[in-house]
Amino acid sequence: MTDVVRGTGVVAGVVKAPVVWKRPLMMHPTPLCALPTERREAEAQRLTLAVQEVAEGYTRRANQAKGEAAEVLGALAQLTCDRGWVRPALKAISDGMPAPTAALDALESISATFRRLGGVMAERVTDLGDIRDRVIARLAGQPEPGVPTPSVPSILLADDLSPADTADLNLDLIVAIATRLGGPTSHTAIVARQRGLPCVVGVTDLMDVQEGDTVLLDGAAGTLTRRLADLDADALVAADARRRAAVDAWEGPAVTKDGVSVQLLANVADGVAAEEAAARPVDGVGLYRTEFGFLTAQIEPTVEEQAATYAEVLKAFPAKKVVVRTLDAGTDKPVPFASLSEEPNPALGVRGHRLAIAQPGLVLRQLDAIALAAANHEPRPWVMAPMISTVDEAAQFAQDCRARGLFAGVMVEVPAAALLAEEFLRVVDFVSVGTNDLTQYVMAADRLAPELAHLTDPWQPAVLRLTKFTADAGARLGKPVGVCGEAAADPILACVLVGMGITSLSMAAAAASAVGVQLSRVTSADCERAAEAALKATTASDARSAAAAALAE
Ligand code: PEP
Ligand code: MG
Repeated sequence: MTDVVRGTGVVAGVVKAPVVWKRPLMMHPTPLCALPTERREAEAQRLTLAVQEVAEGYTRRANQAKGEAAEVLGALAQLTCDRGWVRPALKAISDGMPAPTAALDALESISATFRRLGGVMAERVTDLGDIRDRVIARLAGQPEPGVPTPSVPSILLADDLSPADTADLNLDLIVAIATRLGGPTSHTAIVARQRGLPCVVGVTDLMDVQEGDTVLLDGAAGTLTRRLADLDADALVAADARRRAAVDAWEGPAVTKDGVSVQLLANVADGVAAEEAAARPVDGVGLYRTEFGFLTAQIEPTVEEQAATYAEVLKAFPAKKVVVRTLDAGTDKPVPFASLSEEPNPALGVRGHRLAIAQPGLVLRQLDAIALAAANHEPRPWVMAPMISTVDEAAQFAQDCRARGLFAGVMVEVPAAALLAEEFLRVVDFVSVGTNDLTQYVMAADRLAPELAHLTDPWQPAVLRLTKFTADAGARLGKPVGVCGEAAADPILACVLVGMGITSLSMAAAAASAVGVQLSRVTSADCERAAEAALKATTASDARSAAAAALAE
């Protein structure tokens, strides 16, 4: 057993605290033989009661929670009682199947259907897993598995965390998270980033850490240290507290130690998120993901309706730069009125701007709506198309934008766009590198697959080199090259991107201050050295450590 276990750090922060493990599901053997007829009704009642109790548990938590957490838990309560699985389970019991097997079978069957549907429906499979574990525990007379309520502030350890686990985390008692599975884009990582909770994911040896052990978790280094005798843990925690205080106090704008300005922008999905982002020290919006406003729309909203939606985001940033992305529908973000239904390989299918080619009016009407919303907004919005793969697509899009007085750009998400960056930049006004998809397509690794987290890491040298190649093309032509994927939210990687010549960084607004503080501590020459060191590396972890070392010199 080693004293230090390692994973991927996703949220910086040093915490010393005892650990609590997420309560596991205790499996109990279920009789294989059919139930005698006279016991079947009682067995059905047992399942009905277990379902009711689990649903009530979610509802109780929903009533105590607020906002998004209350919505997640309310939806779980509804899904628990969904007749789509409860009915077949009760039918199986009436045919003689014991309740746990009937529940498992019915939930597995509905999960398979959701998986086939893909996108947001597939994401509900985790919810069904949470419901399954709770119902099975209830049937076995065990406490429901899930996040315990510790008596002192603790670090939560788990194989992985579901939306139900994280919806109402008590941040006074859970002060950091580490998971055995998952990568930088896992649900756990996203939630930790939103809440500013120090977090390490993908810790292969996490099982070595026992309930009650006091450990030092370092979210930047991605480590948990168990034997603290040789460390001045309290001094490390105090130094981190000073760093966090500096992050909280940071008011922008982002400037390196030698006075070079860096444009920090926010990624937003709607007007509410834009209002929240506007309260943070950001210079505008670098990515407005318009598709998030239409994930449940069965019918395409009219130009006027769309314009009203877009205006809410523009209104939150008067006199500031706003980059609006046209619909990126398809694959993990199906928009009912736009997406094709069944595709064998949706991430490589008709998604993003490819829908505009299949249904040309769609994007033109969206551009009309953006232009209408922008009528009272200065400066004029920048508009970019997602999933562009050819120069012809970019040229046509630019023409359509300029005809409406809009500044035209494209995202660099497909490797072809990075490799032809200069040719693309000749026909558009700017490009923005979407490192989430660029990594997915460069590494041929599904960004949603937790097993592939080591590949979907934006520190992968191939991704870094393509990003640099794109930045160089921008510098030659004097046109802006931004980054709007998760990579921009990593303070060290942000310095590397600046060192490569990237002209703006767009990220979850909550991440901006930590990036701003890191930039204020280094010079532009340090950033260039860090970029050079990272670009020479042949593995993601070497790139990360070489960059950190170059900045620390
Ligand atoms: C990206 O791919 O990096 C990006 C910013 O777009 P999205 O995450 O919305 O696909
Ligand atoms: Mg993308």
